[in-house]
Amino acid sequence: MRDNIILKCTECGEENYINTKNKRKHPERMEVNKYCPKCNKKTVHREKR
Ligand SMILES: [Zn+2]
Repeated sequence: MRDNIILKCTECGEENYINTKNKRKHPERMEVNKYCPKCNKKTVHREKR
């Protein structure tokens, strides 16, 4: 079962990406480096809970 998660920029708080992941296989909070259009650079995006 895959669930939708929201990836949120840790610098400005914008919710830039929607992703899916298997919460049973990966119960930990996701952190990925992605481009944020508001910060105009790559920042760490964290899964919103
Ligand atoms: Zn940002």
